Amino acid sequence: MEKQQKSRHLVLVMLPLQGHITPMLQLATILHSKGFSITILHPEFNSPNPSDHPEFTFVSIPDKLTKSQLSDNDVAGFMQSLNKNCAAPLQQCLNKVLASYGHIAAIIYDTLMFCAQAIADHLRLPGMTLRTSSATTLLFYTVFPELDEKDFISKIESPELEALQLQRFRSLLSHNPTEAMVEVRAAFTNAVMSTSAIIVNSMEFLEQEALSKVKKLVPAPIFTIGPLHKLAPTVCCSLFTEDDKCISWLNNQAPESVIYVSFGSMAGIDKQELIEAAWGLANSELPFLWVVRPGMVGSSEWIELLPNGFRESVGQRACIVQWTPQKQVLAHAAVGGFWSHCGWNSSVESICEGVPMLCKPFFGDQVLNTSYICNVWKIGLELHELERGNVERRIKRVMVDMEGKEMRKRAMELKKDAVVCLMKEGSTSCCLNDLTNQISLSSV
Ligand code: UDP
Repeated sequence: MEKQQKSRHLVLVMLPLQGHITPMLQLATILHSKGFSITILHPEFNSPNPSDHPEFTFVSIPDKLTKSQLSDNDVAGFMQSLNKNCAAPLQQCLNKVLASYGHIAAIIYDTLMFCAQAIADHLRLPGMTLRTSSATTLLFYTVFPELDEKDFISKIESPELEALQLQRFRSLLSHNPTEAMVEVRAAFTNAVMSTSAIIVNSMEFLEQEALSKVKKLVPAPIFTIGPLHKLAPTVCCSLFTEDDKCISWLNNQAPESVIYVSFGSMAGIDKQELIEAAWGLANSELPFLWVVRPGMVGSSEWIELLPNGFRESVGQRACIVQWTPQKQVLAHAAVGGFWSHCGWNSSVESICEGVPMLCKPFFGDQVLNTSYICNVWKIGLELHELERGNVERRIKRVMVDMEGKEMRKRAMELKKDAVVCLMKEGSTSCCLNDLTNQISLSSV
């Protein structure tokens, strides 16, 4: 009994970015509901609010990140510093947790907090990883870049992978990578290849063929436990303050008439892109809800760079806010389309509400997600050039034209498939049971 009790403690190691904090806390909530007690170790930067989650123990790790590391656009450099700075304090913290609980069933870390795998190995504890993006990224950043052209082509011989047009991105990955990118990719690969389980916030039907490749090429079992936000719908962890007035504004709009625009928590645009986006939205003559984060446009505070005459021209047809309760927005009957940067969370959230997308990826996995949305699932259209005429035409194609209606139909089909995943015998429910069994077995 004593042993059983002790073996149900989990330590989760969080990456301090919005698109990673949310799924990690959702996973924590789900595992807690399965009877595990949870300690969450998180860097000081972007600390979650412990009072929002009284059921977990939170421990902050000194991250020694400098102002320039936090404000640079160098994502790989940020990951590299974060892992280097956090490794030693993380190990000390884990030693303390181990001493006070006597046992840790598993250490579950965000794949980009890869330093945790080596520490888990050192402590002889099962290390498991949560990938907060698609399963395909597990191949895309690890196995694929190492293959020669012939081997690569043979590995992507499947309709889904061919439709993804991975060749286009492979050269992007290998073109002039910085030292930080090379190091981060190697550490990411190492973690993926040596972990004892991979949890992905995805659904089997979304990336079926890629998943079967991942399962062949990666030694650890893969558990697709998505959509996490539907399994843990009440988890609240926004780093920004949600502005609820957009919901009352949506309540006054016609069904499927509104284009919702958000570029997530990190992507930024310059002043000219803001102006082009603004006039493209205005000229579409459709109602729109637009998230402009403080600091999203160069060094501006908020919307002071919007062009003269724009506010007057759109009037009540526009609602501009700093942050929305996005899942509620996407589920609202008034929303007809989502102009998105295609972060993985936003993409999955849009699918779960059957909303077609206009895709403007900025960096990282957003480009791959866009390819899934436009070429495989066919529920969206890519916006290449951020120019007002182009924006207006593309918005109308998604929102008004037959083409957009077809996308919505397909998105609604995916929404239904997502519901099936969550049913008792659905793939997500089965994977969740398998994962909890594996944790329990590996910890006895
Ligand atoms: N989000 C939100 N309100 C907003 C914009 C975004 O709640 O106004 C949430 C969104 O629901 C998603 C997350 O922020 O869960 C963004 O994650 P994603 O992976 O899409 O992009 P990232 O921010 O990591 O680039």
